[in-house]
Amino acid sequence: MAQLIDGKAVAARVRAEVKADVEILKAERGLVPGLTVVRVGEDPASKIYVNGKKKAAEEVGFNSWEEHPDASISEAELLAIVHRLNEDPAVHGILVQLPLPKHIDAERIISAVKPEKDVDGFHPMNAGKLSLGKPGLRPCTPFGVMRLLKEAGCDPSGKRAVVVGRSNIVGKPMALMLLAADATVTVCHRKSNLAAEVANADIVVAAVGVPELIKGEWIKPGAVVIDVGMNRMADGKLKGDVEFEKAKERASFITPVPGGVGPMTIAMLMRNTLIAASGGI
Ligand code: NAD
Repeated sequence: MAQLIDGKAVAARVRAEVKADVEILKAERGLVPGLTVVRVGEDPASKIYVNGKKKAAEEVGFNSWEEHPDASISEAELLAIVHRLNEDPAVHGILVQLPLPKHIDAERIISAVKPEKDVDGFHPMNAGKLSLGKPGLRPCTPFGVMRLLKEAGCDPSGKRAVVVGRSNIVGKPMALMLLAADATVTVCHRKSNLAAEVANADIVVAAVGVPELIKGEWIKPGAVVIDVGMNRMADGKLKGDVEFEKAKERASFITPVPGGVGPMTIAMLMRNTLIAASGGI
């Protein structure tokens, strides 16, 4: 029976570490990290996410601001906001909450954020640095997964890791981070033989968005299973991408949904903002 990896507890630990570092930055350099979240329009899910980010930022001792233009804002006006924040020395981290309204090209907006303030780690410059194995700001969710693996005592070096999903925000950067940690990495997608690939994996990271796609019986006994999936079911409950009850019979460690990867994303955003403020990359 697998041990649960308690993402809530680890996230609280990360936030406490960031808070302690903020106190040092304040005392030694008179510097208070600043995070601005840009939320366009009234997407209800975005409002919940942004509130969570603001709350965490305040808790760790950052200055935090929200820019909240109307959904009718033009792309040029939104770019002007980003340019202003790029030049504001009090703002060390800029996060543009996605999705953006359809008339705005999200890629253009993300590319306009200064790479050193791109605390989401989505800017092509940061994606390129990750791919080249150079220091840079990393996407928060896979960055959080790496921390969870560490907390579970799982060193990816020499292990076979299977990442299911190849999105630019989770799957691809996840694969690159595991590769940088010396795992032998396989990235799976719709054309892959999931059962066969997962059966070989010492580490499975599921980031698909299909409830219980990864069957418990595929899991290699003793594997570490990280479930990034967050699927809202008809009854309002959240379900992961892994068949949790069966997978936990075979895995050595497993993340629950909710309470696994989810809380880590915001915690690592705090860590990234601290890195951006202290020039630590
Ligand atoms: P996405 O839709 O951008 O990408 C999904 C990937 O899964 C794609 O690469 C696709 O090829 C692959 N895929 C889809 N169906 C498949 C199938 N049947 N077989 C094999 N591969 C398949 O999604 P995303 O943004 O990467 O998010 C994935 C999941 O992770 C979602 O449930 C999302 O809600 C969740 N998520 C959670 C957090 C968090 O903080 N916990 C953050 C981001 C995403």
